[in-house]
Amino acid sequence: MTARDASALVAALRRGETAVWLRPEGRPRADAEPLREGELDGARDRFARFAPVLAALFPGEGWDGRIRSGLQPFPPAAGEPPLWVKADHALPMTGSVKARGGVYELLRRIEAWAASDGLVTAGGDLAPLTDAARRAPLARRRVVTASTGNLGFSIGLVARAFGVGAEVHMSHDAKRWKKDRLRALGATVVEHAADYTEAVARARRAAASTGAAFIDDEDSRDLFVGYACAGEEAAAQLAAAGVAPTPERPLVVYLPCGVGGAPGGVTAGLKRIYGEALTAVWVEPVASPCMLAALAAGGGAPVSIYDLGLDNRTVADGLAVAAASPLVLRAAAGLVDAVAAVRDADMLDWTREAWRRGGLRLEPSAASGFAAVDAFRAARADAGRPVPQDATHLVWTTGGALLPDAEFKALLRLRGGERGAA
Ligand SMILES: *Cc1c(COP(=O)(O)O)cnc(C)c1O
Repeated sequence: MTARDASALVAALRRGETAVWLRPEGRPRADAEPLREGELDGARDRFARFAPVLAALFPGEGWDGRIRSGLQPFPPAAGEPPLWVKADHALPMTGSVKARGGVYELLRRIEAWAASDGLVTAGGDLAPLTDAARRAPLARRRVVTASTGNLGFSIGLVARAFGVGAEVHMSHDAKRWKKDRLRALGATVVEHAADYTEAVARARRAAASTGAAFIDDEDSRDLFVGYACAGEEAAAQLAAAGVAPTPERPLVVYLPCGVGGAPGGVTAGLKRIYGEALTAVWVEPVASPCMLAALAAGGGAPVSIYDLGLDNRTVADGLAVAAASPLVLRAAAGLVDAVAAVRDADMLDWTREAWRRGGLRLEPSAASGFAAVDAFRAARADAGRPVPQDATHLVWTTGGALLPDAEFKALLRLRGGERGAA
């Protein structure tokens, strides 16, 4: 990408238009910290050992305690390629992709605490944690985290289920119902009239001053590895559905991107399996394109979108992040093929469309992947590298199943140009 291309992208974003960054051909970048096999083995094993505990703490119809989502076809309209949906919006416990990453790091910490309290042996059976009396010592422990809503909500929810104290710092984007729900569960919610990056900085300081465990969405390897486990899950489902991607008939995956942990981890997990047969497209709002900005500038370091004249105000609260995770830039930025920045109006249209056509209850962040399909195909065609007709397109829907009815109905009525309700 030349400096002129990068400034043309920024100019389009400032006008509020959809923009797509494509990785320049022949310029793959090695990742400084690629996934290691042992990391995935460890995470897979921990998830499996926690399954009976989670099933007991979050009893759901027939749920076996495994954090998995469905793969389903999405009914195409005329002119659209066939689409698959990876339904993380309906993940157990949290109704968002955060059940894979942030929650994984929390589980690792809970296991370590339980082992140091002598409740379990590290790496062993976790059944004692299903018993409220036996896990009572965990009440002395405390986690702190910060988010635009879903990460804090997810970590607070799961921490409280174990009786662990939770202090959740929320940026101004966070929705009222998530804060109310957390408070009702006994979590401490600290509201900031500040954006995500600032809320994380304040939460990090608060944790350091009290010695609480800080779950760092911007800089956590555990969180990244938890997300990466989704790769083999999706690949097994695709194989069962008869999808066998090749470099000539690639799998194109559309992943909503906030600070980058979720799309980074999932992409790293998928890339290990598919290699060149995977095309990873990350999706951001036009007002919060922090990953696009960093990659267009060379990918070495975060770039603040405020410095580009953008305001980080978007209906996609889950993606309202002004600066990308340095850890993700080191560990996965070399794997991304494209970043699409899409408009609020299009995310809202797709929130309605996903509900009408597929019965999917999505928040706008989670509908962003649908909005990116056409934009990405058009950008590749313009660049003289059209996406093969028989490519498989997979939209990763990342959150929304727990949206209260009134919230969801209000979203379905929102049009572009309007802001989301608080
Ligand atoms: C958190 C979140 C994302 C993106 O995850 P990051 O790790 O912040 O990039 C996408 N969609 C939804 C609904 C989310 O809550």
